[in-house]
This record gives sequence, C-alpha cells and structure tokens, in this order.
Amino acid sequence: MDLNFSAEDIAFRDEVRAFIRDHYPAELREKIDEGEEMAKEDFLAWHKILHKKGWIAPAWPVEYGGTGWTATQRYIWSEETARADTVRLMPFGLSMVGPVIYTFGTPEQKAKFLPRILSGEDWWCQGYSEPGSGSDLASLRTRAERFTGDDGKEYYRVNGQKTWTTMAQHADWGFFLVRTDPAAKMQEGISFLLIDMKTPGITVRPIITLGGEHEVNEVWLEDVIVPVENRVFHENKGWTCAKFLLAHERTGIAGVAASKRNVERIKDVARATQDGGEALLANPFFKRKIAELEVDLAALEYTELRTLAGESSGKGPGPESSLLKIKGTEIQQRLTELALEAAGTYGAPYFRSMGEGDNSFAVGPDSARRVAPVYFNMRKTSIYGGSNEIQRNIIAKMVLGL
Ligand SMILES: Cc1cc2nc3c(=O)[nH]c(=O)nc-3n(C[C@H](O)[C@H](O)[C@H](O)COP(=O)(O)OP(=O)(O)OC[C@H]3O[C@@H](n4cnc5c(N)ncnc54)[C@H](O)[C@@H]3O)c2cc1C
Repeated sequence: MDLNFSAEDIAFRDEVRAFIRDHYPAELREKIDEGEEMAKEDFLAWHKILHKKGWIAPAWPVEYGGTGWTATQRYIWSEETARADTVRLMPFGLSMVGPVIYTFGTPEQKAKFLPRILSGEDWWCQGYSEPGSGSDLASLRTRAERFTGDDGKEYYRVNGQKTWTTMAQHADWGFFLVRTDPAAKMQEGISFLLIDMKTPGITVRPIITLGGEHEVNEVWLEDVIVPVENRVFHENKGWTCAKFLLAHERTGIAGVAASKRNVERIKDVARATQDGGEALLANPFFKRKIAELEVDLAALEYTELRTLAGESSGKGPGPESSLLKIKGTEIQQRLTELALEAAGTYGAPYFRSMGEGDNSFAVGPDSARRVAPVYFNMRKTSIYGGSNEIQRNIIAKMVLGL
C-alpha cells in the first residue's frame, strides 16, 4: 500500500472534510463535547446522513452497497471521521452481520436484510456470549429444536440465555449462535440464526456498568419460534459464520484513528494542567509516557494498514486481527490512564450525572470531569470481542504455530 497520497487522494480527503463540516449535525457535536450519553436517535442521525450520501458501508463490496473506495481512501475516511470526532456507527449490522449475510446468506436473505442495514431501519445486536460461555464460546447451550409447524413450514424453537448483549435494548433484530445438535462435537452442532427481537418469548434486561451506564443486557429466550429460513448457512455449520464475524469485529476494535485524536486531547489537557508551577506536559516523566504511547500507536497503525491492504487485495482479516485487537485496546486503556493522570484530582467524580447541572461536585475544568467515566468504560475493551488472553492463545496457535 502506497502511503504517499496522490493528488486524487488529497482531493478525496478535502471532499470528505468538507462533507463532514457541512453535514455533521451540530447538536451531535455538542453532545459529544459535553460527554453526554448518546441516544439511539443520535447514532441513527449520522448513519442516515451517510446512507443518503452512499458512504455508509465503505468496507462492503460495491454490488451490495459499498463505496468502491481504495484502501487508501478507506484509511482517509477513518482518519477524517476520527479527527472530527463523529459519533461512532453501530458495528452490529454494518461490520458484523452484514458481511456474514453477503458472504454466506441466501439471495432472499441478502435482499431482505442488507438494504435495511444500510438504511439504518434495522438495529442489530449480537447474541453470542452466555453465562459460562464467553471465552469458551463453543460450549454455548442456547438450544434450537427444529419442528414442522401447523402451516407445514419448518421452524426452530429456541430456549436459553445470552448475556452482555450490547445495545439490545434498542435492537430490532439479533444474530444468535444456537445449538442445533447437542450430540455433535462442540463446534459442529451450532447454527447461526437471525431473530426478530419482537418475537414473543424474548426478554431484555439491563446490566448497569461500573460507570453507571446502560450499555449491556441479559437476553432471555423462552420458546422463541424462528422460521428455518432465518438460519444463515447450513444447519450445524454456524461456527464458520461465527469465526468469520469475529475476525471482522476484532479488526474494527483497534480504533487507531480515534486513539491518535485522543493523544492530542491528552496533550491539550496536560498543557493546561499545572504541576508544581509548570505545565504537566513539560514534565519529562509525563512526556516520556506520551512519547512511548505515540511510538506504539505508530507501529499499530502500520500493522492496521498492512491488514487493510491485504483486505483490499482479497485477503480477509485473519489471525492478525487478534494482534490488532490486543495492541489497539491496550493503547486505548493506557490513554484513559494517562488522561486520568493529567486530570489529577479533578478527575475524581465518576458518574456522568455528577458533573451535570447545578452540582457541587462540578469543580475543575470541564474536560477533567469526563475522564473518569471514560476510564471506567474502557476497561471493557480488553474483554469484549474475545478477551486479550484468548487473542494471545490464537496468535500462539495460528501465527506462531505453537
Ligand atoms: C462491555 C461488553 C460488551 C459486550 N458485548 C457483547 C455482545 O454484544 N454480544 C456478545 O455476545 N458478547 C458480548 N460481550 C461478551 C464478551 O465477548 C465476553 O465477555 C468475553 O468473550 C469474555 O467472556 P466471559 O465474560 O465469559 O469471561 P470468561 O470466559 O469467564 O473469562 C474470565 C477470564 O479468564 C480468562 N480466560 C478464560 N479462558 C482462558 C484461557 N483458555 N486462557 C487464558 N485465559 C483465559 C479470560 O481472559 C478472562 O480474563 C461483551 C462484553 C463486555 C465486557
């Protein structure tokens, strides 16, 4: 991949920059600057603007609604959206189930689901993890039993529990891993089902996180009836779709462009923070930590670019996505630690609501009050998408051949 931008790339970058400047909603910018929790409509507002422009799915093949951008243009796109700090697009439809459907789905599934993922009409959630089946995902126990309905059609009856289901409270559809053959070897008895979240028998219960947010849920499935036509790929071969999806999920978690923006933010805070009469940024110990982070981030960026270049020449993200996941999330967590250090004692209040309104906790600079909730929230990154310990096991086996 050539990293020297051509004249066309620079023109493309200017076009993207102008589009974001002219079309990104000011109220979303304010909400992000204030550190407010985003509502479903906020996520969808930007999604719909990008859909109208035809820029909602740069990674998809053109025939299914992708942009046809080169790897460099996709890189520029992620740089520019991170630089502008636009609200993140929900990955469950665009980056997870969408690629599974256009790769493994039937023509009917593609026609039914892909346009609605692109338009934002359907909000998706991911039903993989269960209590007791997270790292050891293939041990999952949610059971789907096949039967013929009174109408002569084939159905599954699904019973079980999923957990940590992100944003399921907003979801119209969920993609679920279920066990269709309990007698088969673990990975061989699993199927991949698309389930309408309004189906009777589904209950979504909130799990409130350490930072006081409602981001994850438990999902209970009790005698949920799902048409067999909603199964993607063959019965008992869902593990193939599951692994394919996880590789896409992990590559997306690295978040290099956003981390680059956050390094600049920390520098701003450290410039404004006094440490023994001088700016914290002038402190050699603090400066060294920032420099180490920037070096690691540059190395990660080149690894991500290599993966992107591989993808654009037809190579799907393989086990190297585990490497991106580990390094990317470690850097994200280190960033939140440094931000907390830069905010000092003003970073202490940690519930979002504690910094709002006429509130005696609201002391110190605005930026400092948002640091602790982000610090707590980002602890999740080394766990979700498959924990970092598990990613190390994958690298040992698939990359190092141990
Ligand atoms: C914020 C958040 C959002 C999430 N969103 C979703 C979602 O939308 N949908 C979904 O399906 N899941 C989701 N998850 C679940 C996530 O994928 C799991 O939490 C993760 O796979 C770990 O599983 P577990 O929590 O059961 O931990 P466990 O598997 O019980 O692991 C506990 C600890 O033991 C370590 N460990 C386990 N096995 C090994 C091993 N073989 N070698 C070395 N160390 C090991 C792990 O690394 C971890 O530190 C989410 C999780 C979080 C935190």
